[in-house]
Amino acid sequence: MLFAGRVMVRSFLHKKSGLLQNLCTLKTLPYEQVMTHSQYDYVKSFEIPDPCLPNCWPVVRIDGKNFHKFSTAHNFEKPNDDRALKLMTAAATSVMGLLNDIVLAYGQSDEYSFVFKKKTKAYNRRASKLSSVVVSQFSTSYVYHWKKYFPELELQYPPAFDSRLVLYPCDKNLRDYLSWRQVDCHINNMYNYCFWKLVQSGLTHMESQERLKGTLSGDKNELLFSQFGINYNNLPQLHRKGTVIIRDKSENGDCAHGKSGKDKVTVVALNTDIIGKQFWEERPHLLAG
Ligand code: ATP
Ligand code: ATP
Ligand code: MG
Ligand code: MG
Repeated sequence: MLFAGRVMVRSFLHKKSGLLQNLCTLKTLPYEQVMTHSQYDYVKSFEIPDPCLPNCWPVVRIDGKNFHKFSTAHNFEKPNDDRALKLMTAAATSVMGLLNDIVLAYGQSDEYSFVFKKKTKAYNRRASKLSSVVVSQFSTSYVYHWKKYFPELELQYPPAFDSRLVLYPCDKNLRDYLSWRQVDCHINNMYNYCFWKLVQSGLTHMESQERLKGTLSGDKNELLFSQFGINYNNLPQLHRKGTVIIRDKSENGDCAHGKSGKDKVTVVALNTDIIGKQFWEERPHLLAG
């Protein structure tokens, strides 16, 4: 009612622009501002609502843009640079500090997934808002914390991350999503270990690729063990499992403090299996909503 009244007054004033100018000089609103509101307001209707469906788990995944090149430009150790992995986790922790409704984050390589409560009301559940605020906070935090993890190395250029938001309608779908990312971590890690060990032993990139073509998991295990004396299962969990971040003070893991504005959060980063039941059965609150 009040709004309709305002619109009518504005349109009346618009017609009587002489009167409008007079009113504006009487310090109601700046003339341009009143004109802008009355004449251009309709463009707002081009904004399409994009609410996340009720009762679904909103998951935002960010991924580094062209990090193959970024990792070369910054001399990342291959196959895994621990400083870079820890910097990713520091940036993800900062995102959790900003958004209390994120219950869990899972990351590996140059990606992190953020799981919001299925009943979150943050940003009125607007997908573009959730997705963009996560990737923005992540990117600025990555740059902000760079010096802590790479004290000797200047950032060569500003890194970028993309993001997407996907809705998972039930707990099983959500768990399968997270399992999919952890399986991806395992597959890539095993390939990368073999690839870089072959390169470090003197093969070219092309020759190493050829050597690994068509090999299965068992073949790669065998190659690592027989040629390089590496037992894959003894490699660091950080590399094989990735990192899961949760808010739980009673956990044993790497404690990290995510800080953003006045919010401070204590979170725990674990390098553990999230595919099996155990992780979830020990923490029923995570899927409680
Ligand atoms: P896109 O822009 O399509 O995502 P990308 O080059 O980032 O392209 P990804 O599939 O995301 O491709 O892979 C990320 C790459 O970044 C890895 O293949 C690896 O080369 C590099 N990388 C990321 N993190 C690390 C790390 N901690 N240590 C070493 N290399 C890393
Ligand atoms: P939201 O998170 O919902 O966007 P917000 O506080 O950012 O909340 P906006 O509508 O985006 O609200 O308004 C941005 C506010 O930031 C302005 O109202 C103003 O107070 C302040 N602001 C932004 N830029 C400047 C500037 N250059 N100089 C002074 N104040 C500014
Ligand atoms: Mg990438
Ligand atoms: Mg990636």
